[in-house]
Amino acid sequence: MKLLVVGGAGYIGSHTVRQLRAAGHEVAVFDNLSSGHAEALPGEVELIRGDLLDAASIRAALEAQKPDAIIHFAALIEVGESMRAPGRYYRNNVVGTLNLLQSIVETRKVPLVFSSTAAVYGTTDAVPIPEDAAMQPESVYGETKRMSEQMIHAFHVAHGLPYTVLRYFNVCGAAPGGDIGEAHPNKTHLIELACLTALGQREKMMIFGDDYPTPDGTCIRDYVHVQDLADAHVLAVEALHAGKTDAATYNVGLGHGFSVREVLDAVDAVVGTPLQRELAPRRAGDPPRLVADASRIVDQLGFAPKFTDLRDIVQTAWDWHRTHPQGLGSNNKDPSPLPLAGP
Ligand code: UDP
Repeated sequence: MKLLVVGGAGYIGSHTVRQLRAAGHEVAVFDNLSSGHAEALPGEVELIRGDLLDAASIRAALEAQKPDAIIHFAALIEVGESMRAPGRYYRNNVVGTLNLLQSIVETRKVPLVFSSTAAVYGTTDAVPIPEDAAMQPESVYGETKRMSEQMIHAFHVAHGLPYTVLRYFNVCGAAPGGDIGEAHPNKTHLIELACLTALGQREKMMIFGDDYPTPDGTCIRDYVHVQDLADAHVLAVEALHAGKTDAATYNVGLGHGFSVREVLDAVDAVVGTPLQRELAPRRAGDPPRLVADASRIVDQLGFAPKFTDLRDIVQTAWDWHRTHPQGLGSNNKDPSPLPLAGP
């Protein structure tokens, strides 16, 4: 299959590009490099620099590449930033996705795999969370993903566009071998922060609340390894292409969770020294427990995550961070990023 991966130079995108190549598919990447890294892509993968807000550029890429399917990762992803700059998020995530959908139905109506998030559920009492739980996102980020999902479904109904939505839980880890990994400009994720603390880039780890109704009082999350998530994309796009699915939504997680304390204990064990920890107030908007009901993707697509042991997951993250303490470097940043219109 020939695939166009939109936003393929980012953290999850670049891991997915690798797994697609390993599965024998041809790949081209469309990315504005606002947060992605050209260095994260294998040399044989063509990189088209373009922005979904420039509808002509994605249209031209579709006409030139003639892909058999499209995977769409390109989005702004920070919950906190989305609350401060909602316009940027609605424009980039919703208008960007709309431009992509419009271009697909006007050029080549090929299947679409879309990156969504457990943030579409918001706070829910469901444990674990099934795909048909109500969508009540609490952040603008989650709202932009819900709106995108709804647009995609409307294009399916109106134009017959086949699609698969993947709702990710807590994505973490790095490709074994440690040459690509998480390198966001703003660091907020627990495992990444713990690795950077172990490297001495931060003084200590804050535990955001230990009075939650969980066994050790800290929040529980479903940590899915980025390579397993990448494999989920390969399964999803192959099932779409084979006509086995045409309007499916799947949670992607392990189906069980780990607490903040369990994660920090695993980091201590992998790193070999205990990190300094400090109890801090609860972080606004953190539900006590977010765990995927992942049975649908397991049953329907044969998803079989390989990284189920927390220490194995943390080991890959640690190998990446200790060999790339500054990420992939700053010299690969686009010097003139296409405008992310505010406010
Ligand atoms: N967390 C924490 N200290 C940190 C970062 C995160 O205690 O320095 C907690 C956070 O409150 C949440 C869990 O770790 O309960 C996972 O947070 P993360 O930001 O990694 O992912 P999220 O679940 O917010 O997508």
